[in-house]
Amino acid sequence: MAENYAPANAGWKFDNSYARLPDLFFTRLDPNPVNSPELALLNDRLAETLGLNAEALRSREGTAILAGNEIPEGASPLAQAYAGHQFGHFTMLGDGRALLLGEQITPGGERFDIQLKGSGRTPYSRGGDGRAALGPMLREYIISEAMHALGIPTTRSLAVVTTGEPVYRETELTGAVLTRVAASHLRVGTFQYAANWGSSQDVQALADYAMERHFPDTVKETDRYLAFLREVIKRQASLIARWQLVGFIHGVMNTDNMAIAGETIDYGPCAFMNSYDPATVFSSIDRQGRYAFGNQPYIASWNLARFAEALLPLLDEDQEKAIKKAEEEISAFGKYYREHWLSGMRAKLGIFQEESEDEELVKELLSLMHKHEADYTNTFLALTFGTTEGNALPDCSEFADWYARWQARLKRQQESSEKTMALMKSHNPAVIPRNHRVEEALEAAVEHEDYTVMEKLLKVLANPYEHSPEQAEYAEPPAPSKVPYRTYCGT
Ligand code: AMP
Ligand code: MG
Repeated sequence: MAENYAPANAGWKFDNSYARLPDLFFTRLDPNPVNSPELALLNDRLAETLGLNAEALRSREGTAILAGNEIPEGASPLAQAYAGHQFGHFTMLGDGRALLLGEQITPGGERFDIQLKGSGRTPYSRGGDGRAALGPMLREYIISEAMHALGIPTTRSLAVVTTGEPVYRETELTGAVLTRVAASHLRVGTFQYAANWGSSQDVQALADYAMERHFPDTVKETDRYLAFLREVIKRQASLIARWQLVGFIHGVMNTDNMAIAGETIDYGPCAFMNSYDPATVFSSIDRQGRYAFGNQPYIASWNLARFAEALLPLLDEDQEKAIKKAEEEISAFGKYYREHWLSGMRAKLGIFQEESEDEELVKELLSLMHKHEADYTNTFLALTFGTTEGNALPDCSEFADWYARWQARLKRQQESSEKTMALMKSHNPAVIPRNHRVEEALEAAVEHEDYTVMEKLLKVLANPYEHSPEQAEYAEPPAPSKVPYRTYCGT
């Protein structure tokens, strides 16, 4: 084991509850030290929330910890075991290039996983080198923090450290380690792993642990594992609805990339949609469009069915009854999803109360946006600020009809136009991390070690509902290109 080291008042305060699960769930292991760690980015505000001193983290000792060269006091590093359906195919996975240091207990008593991503090989690395490149780690930092600012549950990014060592992909790249912060790293795939390689006692131990940690109310229920399944389904329905409302495409919704706590996890080939099209796919490896924008709710429900399968032995002794119970819960996903999505869409359109034709109104708008290749984010912004001219809104009689119906809908409600606008402003972001802006910031940082572009982007993305003048230039969609934007897995 590496030497324990406690830099003066960094504030690390670890517990290791995951390490108290049966041995099957992890392998204890230290990070692989790196040559010459240097801090590239540090999230001061997140550090503060975690009870950590940003200055201490910036010091040489602090950076050594963020690089995996030193182990903070109380940490107990381990690689988590999990399985997963990747593009529909079931395999054994596990942390192949990440280690859980432990759970930081915040001054408010909250518990967050602290994970180093890119920390070296583990028994789950298969053919991989256990390392990560700077570009993808910075990309995860930018997008996860943007998602958080948009109000979407997500893992967070505390720091990115360069290692001083190259990583070899198609070309030689700069190596880096990301410190990821999560409610937990329990995945649908962790349950699949327990169900396939463990006993039903192991599944139960994992379920009890997840319930205690994330769904304490379910513990008191009579049919508690069924209640657990239901709550996981509800959280996912809410999460996916939020993705759809901002045009986020995860890109690789394998069951190992779905967190039980309901956070967005694993920012690989994800991206935000520009012009509205449910068939939008950015990921270079998603050739069939399995994880296209419009498929995300269906895939979530499919993944949750895999989760329910793993829980079957806990739902009922009689397997047929267990299956029936699970099916009933899974079939409710669509209803939960639709409720969240529709209530979010109402808010985006400034609608306070429900009317039965609202869904139709929303769907017609989306279909017009699709037909006219209108920018998703900017259409809602134009509606918010009442700008009918410009290129964001379709200029045709069909759209004018829709607009008149929407205006009539708004007139039927009691709320003032100021209140309506305030509702819309708080649900329609002024900025999203547009792909071309993210690329520009990454290029400056990775190619020229210039972080000013990224710092500015992060600042603008930190308050997406501010609608400040500085945000205007970041709202521009990319210039039309003949080559579609492609994202690559975060390797
Ligand atoms: P992901 O596509 O990031 O969800 O990763 C899928 C699986 O591949 C996980 O088990 C990762 O830990 C593993 N993995 C990804 N990249 C590497 C790498 N460079 N070295 C070892 N394992 C990796
Ligand atoms: Mg993953």
